[in-house]
Amino acid sequence: MENCIFCKIANGEIPSATLYEDEDFRVILDLGPAAKGHSLILPKRHAANLYELPDDLAAKALIVARKVGQTLQMGLGSDGLNVLQNNGEAAGQTVFHFHIHLIPRCTKDGVGMGWKPGTLTEEDKEEVMALFR
Ligand code: 5GP
Ligand code: ZN
Repeated sequence: MENCIFCKIANGEIPSATLYEDEDFRVILDLGPAAKGHSLILPKRHAANLYELPDDLAAKALIVARKVGQTLQMGLGSDGLNVLQNNGEAAGQTVFHFHIHLIPRCTKDGVGMGWKPGTLTEEDKEEVMALFR
């Protein structure tokens, strides 16, 4: 897609710090990392978000996440790894080319990604469960 920065990076038109590449994906270091090793998995084919991503690429993306995530965590000696993916502005998406964040985590690293747990109400439960009936 024209004027999509991640299309250009994924396809090598714009140079990037590439950690991994195969025929479908490129994994790069994030320029604004939440933590050391914060990386992005980019499909070479444009999809704006998870809903536009073809099934075969969606399945492969998680395998890439596991492979690269494990190397990052083991190699950096991190204690954990967040695998994160935002869809839509309201959910924090700022670049509208599907990507998965890999964020190596250390105990007490102060990286904020939490939420305050609410309470599951009967009304919400019914409304959401009805979507799947
Ligand atoms: P989002 O908020 O859409 O889930 O994540 C976009 C991510 O892309 C951010 O973490 C941001 O730092 C990163 N980013 C934006 N532009 C560039 C770029 O040109 N190169 C790299 N490597 N990362 C980028
Ligand atoms: Zn794109």
